[in-house]
Amino acid sequence: MHRLLVEGLRAEVAGREILRGVDLDVRSGEVHAVMGPNGSGKSTLSHVLLGRPGYTVTGGQVTLDGEDMLALPTWRRAQAGLFLGMQYPIEVPGVSMGAMLSEAFAAGGRAAERVPELVGAEARRVGFDERLLERALNVDLSGGERKRNETVQLAVLQPKFAVLDEIDSGLDVDALRAVARRVEAATTEIGLGVVAITHYTRLLTELRPDRTHVLSRGRVVASGGPELADELERNGYAAWALEEDEDKGSAPTRAGTSPEQDPFADPLA
Ligand code: ADP
Ligand code: MG
Repeated sequence: MHRLLVEGLRAEVAGREILRGVDLDVRSGEVHAVMGPNGSGKSTLSHVLLGRPGYTVTGGQVTLDGEDMLALPTWRRAQAGLFLGMQYPIEVPGVSMGAMLSEAFAAGGRAAERVPELVGAEARRVGFDERLLERALNVDLSGGERKRNETVQLAVLQPKFAVLDEIDSGLDVDALRAVARRVEAATTEIGLGVVAITHYTRLLTELRPDRTHVLSRGRVVASGGPELADELERNGYAAWALEEDEDKGSAPTRAGTSPEQDPFADPLA
């Protein structure tokens, strides 16, 4: 049994405080849905959990089985068992998914020979066109293909906890069901703990949340069971969406950042 614990997490970007005290307590096998209006800080939370450059943690703690994640570089957090499925998965020209996952296996002391077989099996499981596996990671893939791609990586890497930032966006109904079922299966097969960031309960009909949290203006303002997600679907965020930031829905871009400075940024965005 593993535990991802986020306590009083505060963080700022470009001198502005975006996360203003976030608490989450996720155990193996649990699904925690994080919902909230555009601009409430959901992607920022995912980036801060994995250590994206440019985000300054100003308070609080993140631990995995008691180990301080905030003190580690991103790759060490990944090796400790954290996985991020990005809202806008980046293109990595020149590197195939197989090569990337083989490196990750080797770095973690796991047998990389099994990677091609695992990748093929997982691609079939989420309906990801196997011919696309030969391509450079995410290059010229549609939004939906990228999300399936993230799911394949997750399934092959078998992390302890996955932070999935709008894994449902861009997926058609069939792909959405396949992805949601794959992640749900991982919660029982390998005891994966999930932080599922989403706007929509359609993801949550297959990936059933144990807990639902509403993020508003950088804080968890309400927590409940799966019924809270249903309530949000019915009534929207009106009760919490007051005074959101002016720049609603815009994907944060920082033109001119190189992949070396910020490996989370899509260089072609
Ligand atoms: P959500 O994912 O909930 O829609 P985000 O976490 O993407 O929200 O954004 C929260 C707020 O932080 C927004 O006002 C956004 O413009 C701002 N923000 C996020 N990342 C950056 C950044 N790199 N530079 C400047 N502002 C940012
Ligand atoms: Mg977002």
